[in-house]
Amino acid sequence: MKVYPFFIPHAGCPHHCRFCQQQWLSGHSAAPSPEQVAGELPLLLPEQGDGEVAFYGGSFTLLEPALQRDYLQRVRPFIARGQVSGIRISTRPDAIGEEQVTRLQQGGVTTVELGCQSFSAEVLAAVGRGHGPQSAGRAVALLRSRSLQVGLQLMPGLPGGGPREALQSLRHALDLEPDFLRIYPTVVLRGTVLEDDFQQGRYRPLALDEAVELCAEMLWHCREAGVPVIRLGLQATAALVPDQALVAGPYHPAFGALVRARLWRRALATVLAGQAGAEVRVHPADLSDALGQRRGNRHYFEERGRRLALRCDGGMARDHFAVDGRTYALQAAAVFQPIPTLS
Ligand code: SF4
Repeated sequence: MKVYPFFIPHAGCPHHCRFCQQQWLSGHSAAPSPEQVAGELPLLLPEQGDGEVAFYGGSFTLLEPALQRDYLQRVRPFIARGQVSGIRISTRPDAIGEEQVTRLQQGGVTTVELGCQSFSAEVLAAVGRGHGPQSAGRAVALLRSRSLQVGLQLMPGLPGGGPREALQSLRHALDLEPDFLRIYPTVVLRGTVLEDDFQQGRYRPLALDEAVELCAEMLWHCREAGVPVIRLGLQATAALVPDQALVAGPYHPAFGALVRARLWRRALATVLAGQAGAEVRVHPADLSDALGQRRGNRHYFEERGRRLALRCDGGMARDHFAVDGRTYALQAAAVFQPIPTLS
């Protein structure tokens, strides 16, 4: 679904999560006024379409109620004309109650994204979220009871967390049966409390390869559960570079491609074990993921004394590959262990 985003950085939010610097993340320093939103929509939207206008970057349901209504009302005429099908907002799990949901629905909101980040009480406390892990379950149940679509956001690698915690948080998130997930490995941004933690040696972010490996495993579990992951890693902005916003952490402008390539590597390594030099046929659209960024998967096999011989075949199904006349599903070949028991 096409999304037409407006960023309201940090608007409405009285909290100060250790990792948060919405201005860098969104690339916008101030929220547009409702009048500005109304002025930009005719330029953004098609004559007919089923996308959603989105308000991202803050805690929408913590804005003044009159301002929430004003933003939403500016979009309503475009929904009525069929130029867009609804509105998406992002907010905190503890900022969703009966009153807020009624206001959202009356305003035309169809999808709510909840910044859960983690389901570990220790991690949520360590980053100063100001809510516990139960908030998300309550919010999802309420949103579902009103037939709203729900997306959940997770941040592996937060202080006090790690790969095991990230996988257990994912288990909690999947058990809530969201419509989609976003996964953003934690990076250290300039001007955050986390930057101070990092500089003082109190916080070590995930290394890029560690984050790629972890997110490949998370993506695999999401696919097993049938939950789409609509974003892996932070959206590239002009400011997300080392001498500006980025201090440390597993940021890569093509992080999602690295993760998909890692799944391919895992699947190919399983099937190609003992089949040195065998030709692998893939759909042309899968070639770059199978090969990996900068041919990383080919180098990986070469370093282990094996040759990865890939050939495009338009007759192959997506996310499948064939070796020696036998076809394999990527998901079935790239097997991971079940997520450890929840604690
Ligand atoms: S709740 Fe969201 S907007 Fe508010 S400080 Fe935390 S991450 Fe930033």
